[in-house]
Amino acid sequence: MDLNLKKHFSDLLFLPLGGANEIGMNLNLYHLDGKWLMVDCGVGFASDVPGIDMMTPDISFIKANKKNLLGIILTHIHEDHLGAVQYLWRELEVPIYASNLAANFLRTKLEEFKLDKQVPIRLIDSSKDLQIGPFAVEFLGLTHSVPEMKALIIKTPKGNILHTGDWKFDPNPVIGEVSEKEKIREWGDQGKFLAVICDSTNAISEGHSRSEGDLHKSLKYLIEGRKGIVGVTTFASNIARIYTIASIAKEVGRKIVLAGFSLHRIYEVAKKSGYDFSGFEFISDREIKFHDKKDLLVICTGCQGEPNAAARKIATGHHPSIKFTVGDLMIFSSKIIPGNEKKIFGLFDALAKKQIDVMTEKDHFVHVSGHPSQDELKEMYALARPKIAIPVHGEFLHTKTHAELARDCGVPKTIQIENGLAVKLQEDFQASCGIVGFVKHGYFGVDGKQLLNLDGEVIRERRKLQSAGIVTVSLALDDNLELMAKPRVQCIGSYDLKSDRDAEHAINQEIQIFLRHKAKELGLHKASKGLSFLKKKKKKLKDTISTAEIEKALRGKLLKIFEDLMGKRPALEVTVHLI
Ligand SMILES: [Zn+2]
Ligand SMILES: [Zn+2]
Repeated sequence: MDLNLKKHFSDLLFLPLGGANEIGMNLNLYHLDGKWLMVDCGVGFASDVPGIDMMTPDISFIKANKKNLLGIILTHIHEDHLGAVQYLWRELEVPIYASNLAANFLRTKLEEFKLDKQVPIRLIDSSKDLQIGPFAVEFLGLTHSVPEMKALIIKTPKGNILHTGDWKFDPNPVIGEVSEKEKIREWGDQGKFLAVICDSTNAISEGHSRSEGDLHKSLKYLIEGRKGIVGVTTFASNIARIYTIASIAKEVGRKIVLAGFSLHRIYEVAKKSGYDFSGFEFISDREIKFHDKKDLLVICTGCQGEPNAAARKIATGHHPSIKFTVGDLMIFSSKIIPGNEKKIFGLFDALAKKQIDVMTEKDHFVHVSGHPSQDELKEMYALARPKIAIPVHGEFLHTKTHAELARDCGVPKTIQIENGLAVKLQEDFQASCGIVGFVKHGYFGVDGKQLLNLDGEVIRERRKLQSAGIVTVSLALDDNLELMAKPRVQCIGSYDLKSDRDAEHAINQEIQIFLRHKAKELGLHKASKGLSFLKKKKKKLKDTISTAEIEKALRGKLLKIFEDLMGKRPALEVTVHLI
C-alpha cells in the first residue's frame, strides 16, 4: 500500500530509498511530525547498462516532499554515501551536514559541477547535538577504512535510533580515532536505543574483521625484496590504506607515485583536512624515468577494473609514463565487489599476459574490510541492546543473516527492509512496529553530467542499439513523391548491406513501390504533365500528407525487410526531404 503521509504525520518512520538489499547507493530517510531528514546520498556501480557506470537512487518521492526535507547528513566520505550529492542536490536544495574531511571532499566534487557556491555545507560538531527540526542528532565516531566515519544517534520523543553507517571495531585503524564503544555501552545499559540500523556488508563472515594495522605487516612482507616496480591498486577513498602503503614504501626505501585523478584528489583533500603525509616521499609520474624501478611504488586507481583508470592503463601499456614489464608486481589491495568480476578478471588477465605478477585478496593477505564481521556485530548488539534491529547496507543474504544474528543476540524484533518501504518505529514495538507503506523507488543512471531513468526511453533505445544496431534511410523526393536521388541507406552496427547487393536491391525496390503506391493514392501522377499544374499539386501534397506520415509508413515496410534479413529488429529511422 502507498505510504499515507497524513495518517503517519506524527510517526517516526525509517524509509530507505537506496542501500537496502544492495551494496551501494545509500540513501536513508527518517520522518517525524511531517519532517524528513536524509542520511547519506550515495552512488552505486551500474552493470550491464550501456554507457552507464554509476547509478543514483530515484529520489522522486522526497523531491515531491522537498519542502519538508530538513537536510542531508553524510556519515563519511565514501562514494556509496556521498557520491550522488552533486547529481541530486539541485532537486532538493537543502543544507548538507558533514565532517571536515567529508566537507572538503564534497567541495572538490561540487566544484566540478559549479555547485560549490550554492550548496550550504555545515560542519558537524561531535561535541554537541545537532538540533534539526524534531530530530536531535548526536555524533559517534566508529572506525572504518576512512577516518571521520560518524554514526548517528538520532534522538526523538518517539525513540532513539543508532544509525551506524559503515563501521568495524578496529583497535588500530592506522589513522583516525578508534570506535567510541563506551558511548554505545552507556546508551545500551540504560536501554535507550529503540532501534539500530546497521551495516550488513560482512554479516556472512565469521569471526572478527582484521585490523588495518595487521595488514601493514603482510603488505610489507610481500613488497620487501621485490626487484621490479610494485603497484598497489586500492579504492582511492581508502585513506587509511594509502597511509599504510605509503608507510611501507618509506620503510622499504621506495618513492611513491600516485596514479589516477581520484587518488590525487583524495590525497589533497586528506592533507587539507589535517592528515599528515609529510613524512613520505611522493614523486610525480613524470619523474619516474629518473629512478630505478626497484625504488618505486605506484599507488593507483582502478581496483575494480574500471576501463579508464590507471591500473587498466598500466596493464594494457597505455599509461604515458608508468610502464610495467615481466616480473613487476601489481597488488589488488581491495575487495572484488559483486557485479564487477568480469572487469576485474579481465584486468588480472591483461596483467598476466604481460608476465606481471598479480596478488589479490583471494591468494594473499592484501586487504582488510572496513566492515564488521559476525563477532563485531554480536559485540555491537551486546553494547547497544536495541529493541529493534534493521539490517541495511547489504544484499538480501547479508541482511537476512544479519537479522538472524541479531535475534540470536537477543534483539526482540528484527525487520528486513527493502528500498521504498517505510517502517514505523515506536516504543510499543512488538505491537505496532513494522512496514506501513511503500513509496516509488528505483535508479537513475549517471550519463556524463545528466541523469537518465534506467527504465526510460533513452536507455531503451541505447539497449536496442547495443543489441541490433541502427539503420538510417534518407530520401529526397520531389512533389510527386518521386526520388530525386538514390535512397541513402546506412547500416550502423546492424547489417552488412555492402556485401549483400540483393538486399540492397530489394530495399530500393520496396522504397520505389511504396512511393508509387503512395503517389497513386494521393493522385499525384498527373502532376508531372505541366508546370502550372505541378504548383497546384505541390500545395495539395503538403495538405494531404506530412513527411512524418510518409516516414512512419515506410519505416514499417523497411523494418519488415530488415527483420527478415537479420532475424531481429534494429532501430530504424527514415528521413524524408521534400524538395
Ligand atoms: Zn564506507
Ligand atoms: Zn558504504
